[in-house]
Amino acid sequence: TLSRQPALDALAQRLGPQGLWQRPGAEASTGAAPAFDGWPAHEQDWRGRYRGRALAIARPASVDEVVFVVQVCAQAGIPVVPQGGNTSLVGGSVPDETGLQLVLSLQRMNQVFAVDPVNLSMTVQAGCLLATVQESARAQGLLFPLSLAAEGSCTIGGNLATNAGGTQVLRYGTARELCLGLQVVTAQGEVLDQLTALRKNNTGYDLRDLFIGSEGTLGVITAATLRLHPLPRGSATCLLPCTTLAAAVAALTSAREHLDAGLTAFEVMGQLPLQLLQAHAPQVAAPLSAWAGSATLPPWVLLIEHQSATSADMAQQQLTQWLCGPAAGLSGLHTEQAVVAHAEAQAQALWAVREHIPLAEKAEGLMVKHDIGLPTSAIPAFVEAMQQVIPARWPGARIVCFGHLGDGNLHFNVQPPEGQRHAEGMAAFEPEVNALVFDAVCERAGTISAEHGIGALRAQELQRRTSPVALRLMRAIRQSIDPQGVFNPGRLLP
Ligand code: FAD
Repeated sequence: TLSRQPALDALAQRLGPQGLWQRPGAEASTGAAPAFDGWPAHEQDWRGRYRGRALAIARPASVDEVVFVVQVCAQAGIPVVPQGGNTSLVGGSVPDETGLQLVLSLQRMNQVFAVDPVNLSMTVQAGCLLATVQESARAQGLLFPLSLAAEGSCTIGGNLATNAGGTQVLRYGTARELCLGLQVVTAQGEVLDQLTALRKNNTGYDLRDLFIGSEGTLGVITAATLRLHPLPRGSATCLLPCTTLAAAVAALTSAREHLDAGLTAFEVMGQLPLQLLQAHAPQVAAPLSAWAGSATLPPWVLLIEHQSATSADMAQQQLTQWLCGPAAGLSGLHTEQAVVAHAEAQAQALWAVREHIPLAEKAEGLMVKHDIGLPTSAIPAFVEAMQQVIPARWPGARIVCFGHLGDGNLHFNVQPPEGQRHAEGMAAFEPEVNALVFDAVCERAGTISAEHGIGALRAQELQRRTSPVALRLMRAIRQSIDPQGVFNPGRLLP
């Protein structure tokens, strides 16, 4: 065993001033360089909901340095919080308030090792930004399809640790489906090296799948081999207004049938999130002016993307044929008012509408957020029930609903009544809304977290809503892999 200060001294000596940031004042005793300006960003989450206090921030530059950090921390009993881009929406990536947890940031491990066009794979370090991974694949004429609004800040290690979803799951699956192999540093400081590009490998338990989605509680992902796809030759994108969610679900069924595997995204946006966008980012909301003539925005707007392996013209033709044919025959869809992008820049402007909604929501202020998953067929009845119950119980509360309808994943957020839009008001409002929403989700065989994970935010809820058998098995796995509880204590399984 090692006590805390000698452990920090050992880390400072091995990692150097770039590799170990210490709290201002601490450097006097250790001789390490003072903390850098970037320090606060490592202690606070994206939503500003969780603010912790780190013992130090380790920024290793190699897998050997990660091993060293983990071994020293294990010996000294210092809990380690793995951190990528710190864009977690569930408080999974910041230290707690004790000042005793060390943040292990992967940001300096950001190399793209290789892109392999023959095996349709690429191998990257965990700290690579998702946007860098996408660009590196594209530069070789290939596609890494994972796509989310935080892609300029989140890392591939964080994406895998949370099994991130995003906008292309309908066609390409979640981060799990896009990962072929992993390199992981275990709680004992060993390196599990499984950076393989094999498509098939039935040799015992799938350890890769165990670490994916484990939210930094089982090991530190240091590198990954990713599955790439051929770059589609063209895509077509449209915004499609509709009157009800039942009509939106009928449109999804029809689009799946007629556009088949070319259907890559089927997103839904309610009226209120679009109004928030108009209020907080009017330039981004410009495509919505297509409906400016009508008194209000449509109750729901779909964003649909269709890709073609042949050409952009083909994609456009197929989407238009669907809009003018099968979709036009469905009630509740206003296909005559569809906004179809005719160039890449226009498609990006339509996507910007969807992607800026979380930012507009953030600008609006406090919300109770839910990242729920439901069988798609159950979504209309769920939302209708909530639209009746929530405003009746809390007059003035507003529902901000949008998400990945194609995957049955809704971001179902509730703004408190005006008098309660402050910390105290939220403290009373939030647990009651959560209970109401999650009861309704579970009654319909849904999930309380479709893509954001559990983190600190949903750790208690997971205990309440998961079967004892599943919880026992999860604890047994954690206990056997990280018996000392080195990694991310208090998250996922408190
Ligand atoms: P962090 O936030 O740093 O960490 C997330 C979790 O992973 C933590 O528990 C952390 O301990 C662990 N972790 C991080 N790196 C590693 C590693 N190398 N090894 C082991 N554990 C690690 N998520 C979606 O799924 N879909 C979306 O559409 C989506 N949209 C978003 C939009 C916005 C505007 C924002 C801010 C977030 C969004 N998110 C979305 C949530 C978030 O971006 C994802 O969860 C992302 O995958 C987190 O990556 P990160 O690098 O920021 O990880």
